[in-house]
Amino acid sequence: MERIVEIQDMIAAARRARREGKTIGFVPTMGYFHDGHLRLMTRARQESDLVVVSLFVNPTQFGPGEDLASYPRDPEGDAAKAASVGVDVLFCPRAEDMYPPGSRTSVHVEGITDKLCGESRPGHFRGVATVVGKLFHIVQPQRAYFGLKDYQQFLVIKRMVADLNWDLEVVGVETVRDPDGVAMSSRNVYLSPRQRQSALSLNRSLRRAQELIDEGERRPETILAVVKEMISQQPQVRIDYVVLCDPETLEEVSLLQGDTLLALAAFVGKSRLIDNAVLSVP
Ligand code: AMP
Repeated sequence: MERIVEIQDMIAAARRARREGKTIGFVPTMGYFHDGHLRLMTRARQESDLVVVSLFVNPTQFGPGEDLASYPRDPEGDAAKAASVGVDVLFCPRAEDMYPPGSRTSVHVEGITDKLCGESRPGHFRGVATVVGKLFHIVQPQRAYFGLKDYQQFLVIKRMVADLNWDLEVVGVETVRDPDGVAMSSRNVYLSPRQRQSALSLNRSLRRAQELIDEGERRPETILAVVKEMISQQPQVRIDYVVLCDPETLEEVSLLQGDTLLALAAFVGKSRLIDNAVLSVP
């Protein structure tokens, strides 16, 4: 596996691969790899000639008071894990090269970025869309892989790619969970054993919601109340949002029908965790 730091070297490597007729599969990440990240890389490996993974803790997607400085990092461990699943290039640009003095351009996807995580993290999705757009130009992939754990991020990137006529496919990959059901996240490392116990309620409440629907419940307010109750009765948990919404527009629904996204975010201790499920309403 090759490690590339310089943006120009990455552009040259991508251009060379393209010229040789190779397809490029790309997985953007912030590192501290777990099996969720590795699932994306494995999928890219199966579907592309050259697999590029970026490792960049993007400062512009963190708000004031968020965990940019303490975000977990393990570059050597990450390199070993990426190599073990057959990644060809690990691209680790420097922040000062990605955002040199004088940078003035950003990408803003309207509407869907105002809701859910966008409401509690203003500016977050502008940072995400901008860095992913820049990385797409540098890496020139035909396919890019995103986890559905970050469902809203996946939608925002798909929207950006469609709106800006990017010639690439955005692939969504199912959430990878620990055996106890907790969605894997680099931020789980912050959790104490008691907090991890509390975090179980996130996924359990999503599953309970689907059970309620299967039993015939159709009132969003009833389902939301059950989910909120299950989570908030856990110690050291503060709910940020719990929303039932349209999986395409993220507009809240007043009636359950068809596929409905149940998305939630909660602080467990100081870690902000998110999870979601697309509920199927028969
Ligand atoms: P991050 O390093 O947290 O920015 O994540 C990089 C990519 O991995 C994003 O597309 C995430 O959605 C994806 N990802 C993170 N956690 C998981 C998970 N548990 N299952 C599947 N994909 C994930």
